[in-house]
Amino acid sequence: MRDYFIAGNWKMHKTRAEAADLAKDLVAQLKDGKHKYLVAPSFTSLETVGAIVKGTNIMLGAQNMASEEQGAHTGEVSVLQLKDLGVQAVILGHSERRHIYKEDDALINKKVKLALQHGMEVILCVGELLEERESGKAEAVCETQTVKGLEGVSAAELAKVTIAYEPVWAIGTGKTATPEDADAIHAYVRKVVAKLYGEDAAKKICIQYGGSVKADNAAQLMAKENIDGALVGGAALKADTFVPIAKFG
Ligand code: 13P
Repeated sequence: MRDYFIAGNWKMHKTRAEAADLAKDLVAQLKDGKHKYLVAPSFTSLETVGAIVKGTNIMLGAQNMASEEQGAHTGEVSVLQLKDLGVQAVILGHSERRHIYKEDDALINKKVKLALQHGMEVILCVGELLEERESGKAEAVCETQTVKGLEGVSAAELAKVTIAYEPVWAIGTGKTATPEDADAIHAYVRKVVAKLYGEDAAKKICIQYGGSVKADNAAQLMAKENIDGALVGGAALKADTFVPIAKFG
């Protein structure tokens, strides 16, 4: 019913030449892949990678964008500039943006609405810190981030939103949530979406898992009823490690 969506977040890695090499490998190796794919290189490599993935089954994504369309915002990159480069989707609310760069739910929500107004797809990231999980707050944190992130988003716009559940303690640490634990949060987030938009929208929305996804745990995670894909960091940096995840199943 829901398509699997496998995305690679390259974070702050790769020169243009390195990004181009990886993008070419992925285009060649995923051309017969049966899932939905996206790569999100750094801003500096978007044009280079965009030219390589254009017209293929791999979408071009950005890792962030400004909350304003244009203006005096030194160091920011606007939705108009991203669209000009052929960017089709943007990752928003990544935990590194929330926790290192102190982006709050209100700012993330502004970005979500702006991206959607411009016809971009959005991957909205949610996820709890270790201490929040240990104090039993994982569901509440994910609920708040989902509700606030989607405030003012119409039912029609929701069709362009993917939610990525990325428990912060599992990102880049080698610790993965168990498939059962991840599925429980995904089911909870789906319920939150049902409360906001109804059962049908909740059944349709794609919820990716992110946090130390590797070739050897991807299939078990995605076998779970509510896990519809993966947002991959470290293992997305090489074709050898990303392709087996992207071609699972
Ligand atoms: P890792 O796969 O390196 O844990 O990163 C996950 C992530 O943050 C993807 O956005």
